[in-house]
Amino acid sequence: MIRIYNTLTRTTEPLVTNEAGKVGLYVCGMTVYDYCHIGHARAMMAFDVVVRHLRRRGQQVNFVRNHTDVDDKIINRAREADVAPLELSAHFIRELDADLDSVGLLRPTLAPQVSQHIPEVITMIEALVRKGHAYSADNGDVYFSIESFAGYGKLSGRRVDDLREGARVAVEASKRHPGDFALWKAAPDAADLGWDAPFGRGRPGWHIECSAMAARHLGDSFDIHGGGIDLVFPHHENEIAQAECASGHEPFARTWMHNGHLTLVDAGGDPVKMSKSLGNVVQIRDIVARVPAEALRLMYVGTHYRSPLPFSDAGLGDALSVLDRVYLARETLDDVVARGVSAPLDELPETAREANRLAAGFVERFDQSMDEDFNSAAAIGHFFELVRAINRFGNDKKARARGADALRPALAAFDAVADVFGIAALSPNAYFDEAKVKRLRAQGRSVEAVDTLVAERTAARNAKEWARADALRVELDAQGIAVMDSPGGSTWRVRVDA
Ligand SMILES: [Zn+2]
Repeated sequence: MIRIYNTLTRTTEPLVTNEAGKVGLYVCGMTVYDYCHIGHARAMMAFDVVVRHLRRRGQQVNFVRNHTDVDDKIINRAREADVAPLELSAHFIRELDADLDSVGLLRPTLAPQVSQHIPEVITMIEALVRKGHAYSADNGDVYFSIESFAGYGKLSGRRVDDLREGARVAVEASKRHPGDFALWKAAPDAADLGWDAPFGRGRPGWHIECSAMAARHLGDSFDIHGGGIDLVFPHHENEIAQAECASGHEPFARTWMHNGHLTLVDAGGDPVKMSKSLGNVVQIRDIVARVPAEALRLMYVGTHYRSPLPFSDAGLGDALSVLDRVYLARETLDDVVARGVSAPLDELPETAREANRLAAGFVERFDQSMDEDFNSAAAIGHFFELVRAINRFGNDKKARARGADALRPALAAFDAVADVFGIAALSPNAYFDEAKVKRLRAQGRSVEAVDTLVAERTAARNAKEWARADALRVELDAQGIAVMDSPGGSTWRVRVDA
């Protein structure tokens, strides 16, 4: 049974869906006016793992994640760049898809854009006006009246009365209550981005798009709505108000899931603000240039999705070292199981028995952790224990020689983890090749220089100049390079200490 923490009820509840075996999931996507950074990636990754695990547990997930392609930030950026707003957003949707693909994110079932759902938005606003939940103000905007909805505040715990305090008078001018928010922003000038509507030419406010698109694609009352914790108020509170008032159905979404923030921390462990003006925004593409993408995934799943995630270079480096060990274990598995030589367990050394013991029941333990509000931190803890045992096995010649049957159950563990976390999915050779190039480049070292040394050593060996070959090996070793000789030639990696 899958249980999920529901922000709406503030409790962890069994997953109940409208239709057994099917999950309708809406996740707020990005406003597309720039590249995706590691903060955005946290939300994307959190729900990627949620979708993967739900599917692994046999649920058919209809996963909808929108692109906000109409927004003041987009319009301003487009003006600076002297392009049409929808041209700019189309460009950044393509870039976003490329970035998310590069870190192994599954594409949503559907990725609706607000610019293609204007009729749905207008219909919803018309219903809200008709039912007395919205009004046209003298500035041409249409606002939602939060006092018209008794349920306002049920998600965030805010009270309508409290929202009146501290509001700026200037903002209040056209509104009946300072907490009222724009459903439609007037754009009378034909040169500005806008659409004709019964209440005047304009464009949708931010909140309405998610209500309209979720209702359009998942229905008036669907299963799970997700997003970052910063969206609880006002965005999600407003989504509920619009949707429930327009349709007359509640709840709009039965379960509300929110992921915790990512915080950049410096070398001393202190939080630093990530901002364009400080020039320290870390984009997904910066990370993928430096390390194999799975290192980022591993770092994210190491923390529960609802907990704050401190992000540092040191943390990423640690994740990469752990990933190396995961691939060493994968290599041992591939090698030993493919050779298929087996002996009875009681004739094998303790390292083999230990790996066998830990693998027994692993998949059940893993699923249990994930079933309990997607506790990836606990699940990956079980996995690392197994990885360590496999690597001890791998270092034991006697275990390696005849341990195929003993090790086989661990393969199922790797498959489960690859499925849900999207790690350990490459071949070990592909992984280590990518890792060595990125590592050396990050250290300012040259792959070609290592290739040259290895080639010189091979030439020395072929010429039977053993002393020279040994000296070159020592030199490579001092550089942290491990050379592997095989009948097909010599290859090399950056050494991994298991
Ligand atoms: Zn949204």
